[in-house]
Amino acid sequence: MTLNASGEGVKASTGSVRERADVVIVGGGPAGLSAAVSLGRARRRVVVVDAGRPRNMTAAHMHGVLGHDGLSPLRLLELGRAEAARYGVRLVRGEVRAARVDRGEIEVDAVGGTFRARRLLVATGLDDELPSIPGMREQWGKGVIVCPYCDGWEHRMDVIGVIATSPRSVDQAQLLRQWSDRVVYFSNVVGTPSADEVVALARRGIRVEPGRVTGIHSDGDRATAVAVDGRTVAVGVVFTGPTLRPRDALLRSLGAATTNGTTGSWVDIDDDGRTSVPGVWAVGNVVDPRSNVPVSLGLGSLVAGALNADLVADDIASALANPAI
Ligand SMILES: Cc1cc2nc3c(=O)[nH]c(=O)nc-3n(C[C@H](O)[C@H](O)[C@H](O)COP(=O)(O)OP(=O)(O)OC[C@H]3O[C@@H](n4cnc5c(N)ncnc54)[C@H](O)[C@@H]3O)c2cc1C
Repeated sequence: MTLNASGEGVKASTGSVRERADVVIVGGGPAGLSAAVSLGRARRRVVVVDAGRPRNMTAAHMHGVLGHDGLSPLRLLELGRAEAARYGVRLVRGEVRAARVDRGEIEVDAVGGTFRARRLLVATGLDDELPSIPGMREQWGKGVIVCPYCDGWEHRMDVIGVIATSPRSVDQAQLLRQWSDRVVYFSNVVGTPSADEVVALARRGIRVEPGRVTGIHSDGDRATAVAVDGRTVAVGVVFTGPTLRPRDALLRSLGAATTNGTTGSWVDIDDDGRTSVPGVWAVGNVVDPRSNVPVSLGLGSLVAGALNADLVADDIASALANPAI
């Protein structure tokens, strides 16, 4: 299905038709669309295949994005699709299920067709795996959030509850103390602080609520209280630290090299976004958990420049090998 700028399907795809492009981009979030606009403006034939589920889709507003403060994340992508379409980028709604390297090119299977390209750019983002606490999933992106730089300012007058998901959650509580002087740390069994940490939390006025968190109470789009071992503690918002799951199955299936770090296993890229698989590049949250919206926009542009230079190098090699052309 082809999309118009609003992300609505406008034409059914013809099934197994094979299309050629210079670059197929999988993922039309901030990283993928930013790269698409740059490559389209560089007069490359670009196809973006996007499943339409950006990480921040449950948030009504976006912050920390210069010039777009408070804009809806979905509206940003709508604007991005319109800009990309203006430069000839083809936008396809669908999920890419498989890709393979074939005679120096990449073939990508998406719902409705196969695309063949000189380069593949994967910008599929990541999934936030939340602790299984009743009420948390429903409030995700509204009364339960993750990023102080994105939403801390809006909650500076609130009681901020921090629900631990690991021993490192103590750091999240200490960080949030920068935004509010009323922080409650729910150790939730998995995040019991050490003796030194208890002292440091107390010195900064952060209250510790021990015990297992059993639910989040809410009032529409706001978290109002945290239930812990039969008690109910009033809060204005909840922050937590989900387990980050990069959507990198495609990259792994192609054999991309990975490295284990403190936040799990991530696909390796060089400074330009190249993976270890020739012709396969990656950008945004799929390879970097720190890639918030402005960083994803910036890196999308950076990677597009490097990718285009790589294609130009190929074009030069082809011209030298085929003097008649
Ligand atoms: C609740 C919440 C609020 C946030 N608020 C802010 C904020 O205010 N400011 C800020 O800077 N950052 C914010 N962020 C972070 C922000 O969401 C990410 O930094 C950003 O979305 C990363 O962009 P991306 O392009 O890498 O991935 P995404 O935006 O996740 O886009 C990836 C796209 O790829 C698609 N995709 C995945 N797999 C496939 C496949 N196999 N085939 C086709 N398409 C596929 C997805 O459906 C999605 O559309 C927030 C995050 C969360 C969780």
